Amino acid sequence: MPPALIQTLALTVVGAIPALVLGFLVGPAWGWGLLALFLFLQLLNALRYFLRLERWSHHPQPTADLEGSGAWDEVFSRLYRHEKELRHAIARRDNDLMMVEAAGQAIVDGIITLDGDNRISWCNKVAERQLGLDIRSDRGQPIANLVREPGFVAYLTGGNFRLPLRLNAPRNPELFLSIHLLPYAGGYRLMQVRDVTQSEQLDRMRRDFVANVSHELRTPLTILGGFLETVRELDLPPAEHDRYLGLMADQSDRMLRIVQDLLTLSSLESSPKPGSDRVPMATLLAKLRSDAEALSAGRHSITLEAEAIDLLGNESELVSAFGNLISNAVRYTPAGGTIAISWKRCVSSAEFAVSDNGIGIAPEHIPRLTERFYRADTGRSRESGGTGLGLAIVKHALSRHQATLDIASKPGQGSRFSAIFPPGRLAGG
Ligand code: ADP
Repeated sequence: MPPALIQTLALTVVGAIPALVLGFLVGPAWGWGLLALFLFLQLLNALRYFLRLERWSHHPQPTADLEGSGAWDEVFSRLYRHEKELRHAIARRDNDLMMVEAAGQAIVDGIITLDGDNRISWCNKVAERQLGLDIRSDRGQPIANLVREPGFVAYLTGGNFRLPLRLNAPRNPELFLSIHLLPYAGGYRLMQVRDVTQSEQLDRMRRDFVANVSHELRTPLTILGGFLETVRELDLPPAEHDRYLGLMADQSDRMLRIVQDLLTLSSLESSPKPGSDRVPMATLLAKLRSDAEALSAGRHSITLEAEAIDLLGNESELVSAFGNLISNAVRYTPAGGTIAISWKRCVSSAEFAVSDNGIGIAPEHIPRLTERFYRADTGRSRESGGTGLGLAIVKHALSRHQATLDIASKPGQGSRFSAIFPPGRLAGG
C-alpha cells in the first residue's frame, strides 16, 4: 500500500479516537458530530490542495509554489520531479534536433527529406538555393510540383535510385546538378543535390580541347599527305620537287610548334609551383629584344626601357610568357610599326608591358584571347605561324607567379599587353 494512503488512513484513525471517547463519555451524537467535523475539515483541506493542483496543472512549472502537507506533499514532490525530468528530456531532445539540423545545414550538398508521398519535410539552405525552394512555404508540398523537369519527375517516380540523375538547375541554367535519392526508414527518401557545374565544365573543356587539338593537327596532316602523294605520283622537275618539300617542311614545323606549345602548357599545369630563384631581368630582356629583332627582320622599330628590378620565380616560364607577348606584337604589327617593351616599378608592384601600333583587337575578342586555340584573326595567326596557344601559355605562366595579365587594344590602332607582378615576386636590393 502506498505510504501516502497509510498516512491518510492513520490520520483518520487518530481523528476518530477523540470522537469515540466523546461518544462514550457525553453521548453518541456528540461523538458522531466530532467525527463529522473532523472529516469535514479534512475534506476542506483536501479541496484546498486539489484547487492548488488544478491551478498548477494549467501552467505546470517545476519551480512553482506547489506545496502541501502530509500525503499531498509527497504527491506534489513527485509531480515536480516528473515535470522537471520531462522538461530536461524535452530540452535534451530539442538540443539534439538543433544539432542534427545544424549538421544538415553544414553539409556542402543540398539535402531534402521527403515523406512517403514525396512531400518535402525539411531541406537545408543549400538545397533552397539550388532548387529555388523556400522551406517556410514549401514544407509539405510535393517535390514534383516544385521541380517539374520531366527527367526529374521520371526519376522520382521510376523507383530506380541506384545512380544519381544529372540535370540543369530548374531556375538557373548555369548550374548543373547531380540528384541522388536515397530511401530510408521504410518509405522516406533523402534527396542529395550536388553542384557538379565545375566537373561538367571541366568535362566539356576536355572534350572541346581534344576536338580542337585534333582539328589543329588534322589540317597540316591532310596538307602534308596531299603533298606527299603529289611528290610520289608526279614526275616533278627538280625545282618544283624542292618547292613541295619546302611546303611539307612548313606543315611539319606547324605541327611541331603546336605539339611544343601543348607540351609547354601541360608542363605549366603539372609541374610544382615556381620557386623563388632570382631571375636577372636585364639579361633576360636583352635576349628577348634580340630575339624580337631577329623575328622582325628589320621590319619594325623595337625599343626597350627597363628599370633595374629582378624577379623571383622560374626563368624559363617567364621567358615563355614575355617571349609570347613580344612575338605576338611582332606578328600582329605590319611592317614599319613600332613595338615598345618596358619593365618598370608601379607603386609597390612591377609591370612588364609590350605595346604595339599593329592591327589591334576588337573588344568582343579580348575576354576570350587566353582560351586555348582562340584566335581573333585566324588567317593572320596561321599565316604568321601562330598556334592559338601563346596567350594561354602567358596566362598560366603569369598566374603561377601571382601576376595578372591586362589587355588594352583598339582595332587598327594597336595593343598593349601588360603583366603586373606583386611585391612578393620582386627581388629586394
Ligand atoms: P596565336 O598563336 O594565334 O598568336 P595567341 O594565343 O598568342 O595565339 O593569341 C591569340 C589571338 O590574340 C591571336 O590569334 C590574335 O588574333 C590575337 N593577338 C594576340 N596578340 C596580339 C597583338 N599584339 N595584336 C593583335 N592581336 C593579337
